[in-house]
Amino acid sequence: MKILFTTSEAVPFATTGGLGDVCGSLPFALADLGHDVRVILPAYRCVWYVGREIRPLNVEFIVAVGSKTVSGRLLEHRSESVTFYFVQQDYYYDRDALYSVHGQDYADNCERFVFFSRATLEAIRLLDFYPDIIHAHDWQTGLVPAYLKIEYASSPLYRSMGSVFTIHNMAYQGRFWHWDMLLTGLDWKYFNWQQMEAYGQLNLLKTGIVFADAVSTVSPRYAQEIQTPEFGAGLEGVIQSRRDVLWGILNGIDYTVWNPTTDPHLPAPYDEHTVWQQKPFCKAALQSEVGLPQRPHVPLIAMIGRLTHQKGFDLVAKILPEWLEQTDTQWVILGTGETQLETTFRELANRYPDKLAVIFEFNLPLAHRIQGGADMFLMPSRFEPCGLAQLQALKYGTVPVVRAIGGLADTITDCRPETLANGTANGFSFTEESPQALSETLKRACDAYRQPEIWRQLVLTGMRQDWSWARSAPRYVEMYEATLRRIRGG
Ligand code: ADP
Repeated sequence: MKILFTTSEAVPFATTGGLGDVCGSLPFALADLGHDVRVILPAYRCVWYVGREIRPLNVEFIVAVGSKTVSGRLLEHRSESVTFYFVQQDYYYDRDALYSVHGQDYADNCERFVFFSRATLEAIRLLDFYPDIIHAHDWQTGLVPAYLKIEYASSPLYRSMGSVFTIHNMAYQGRFWHWDMLLTGLDWKYFNWQQMEAYGQLNLLKTGIVFADAVSTVSPRYAQEIQTPEFGAGLEGVIQSRRDVLWGILNGIDYTVWNPTTDPHLPAPYDEHTVWQQKPFCKAALQSEVGLPQRPHVPLIAMIGRLTHQKGFDLVAKILPEWLEQTDTQWVILGTGETQLETTFRELANRYPDKLAVIFEFNLPLAHRIQGGADMFLMPSRFEPCGLAQLQALKYGTVPVVRAIGGLADTITDCRPETLANGTANGFSFTEESPQALSETLKRACDAYRQPEIWRQLVLTGMRQDWSWARSAPRYVEMYEATLRRIRGG
């Protein structure tokens, strides 16, 4: 099968989180299954810093963006099994960041991704690469399925293509004022509550959901949750209307990147046989790197992620003063995001420098060292489409403590007498969204930490589980095949 990923992020070239991880690793897993997979993304400034060879293709094009015509060029990077194409348009993409600076979205984001979506469909013709499936991701490429259905339907070369749209997070919808409909170039008749409009605005996530031949999201539990008002972010009705073509496929992680045995960032790599000798070295090195006292037997609790309401950092901020004051624990927090949360955590770190370290950066090598050195990984998310960090933690023998929702519920089995007995326990979880529930669960985790038999079992269960793409990539193939059967017949 020929598959084209169209995405605004793919590691190692450009990423702000899970979307980039998925679009940089799933294509390789699909290629390993024998498919011809290519990825197209914008040529942001950061793609040049990666050190991979990117060459111009001598392919230039012009597309309409509202009343303007805008030109672009295609570039290419060939890896062993996957080809990456880049859409170069320096006015749109040669910027400091992908979508926003200082917490402020770029004012022309709609225009930038209208251009990119149109460029994707033009690139197919110009590269003479006609995929069976165009796989679009999140609001940035939500227009791609719409353009395919509306503008390219009459072209014989495009007609038999299937489109798949993956929702990585319902909270980011690409909502723009209604006049931006003019930028899309699509007829106003599509600006209605059943297609591109939601609550008076142009909604690009909704557009993708409505026009794609199949829709997926990144865990089975989240696929259920987004059909409800609590998690549907106002689009639950739209999701329900596409229930018959909705798939929930758990994300995988790339064990060539996230593997404590081969991780170049760890001071003392380890596997399940050497974890008890080596992880203490990683812990001591981490403590000294982040400025905490080297205390081997104190539980070191870590958090890595966007400092947002979604990730439950505010719940943590509520329990931290008591935990820092009353318990013998150490904490390390790595993240970027809301200024208010940064201020709160910074103040606490100043008050308790021996117990809390905070680093407000996006720092991948440090993320690896934290996974390697910490004892527990905390993720009390309000909602979590899949979550990758808890899967990374499992592989590194760092026991996850999570809220049982979305992908966290699908991957973390709470430590209870019965789950310990049947060997499924791999972490701790709670359901109620409250500081009390979080605190009680952390206490249970700290108690277990002091019982070596139990802790050993939890660590080894997590390390031995397989959360790689080898599990999930075949499910994507199943979805592609089912979609093609449906649209092509037979
Ligand atoms: P989301 O996509 O919602 O941000 P995920 O857990 O699915 O959350 O994926 C986040 C990814 O980004 C993980 O690989 C995590 O380790 C990484 N990450 C998040 N914040 C940081 C940071 N400040 N520094 C380094 N890596 C980070």
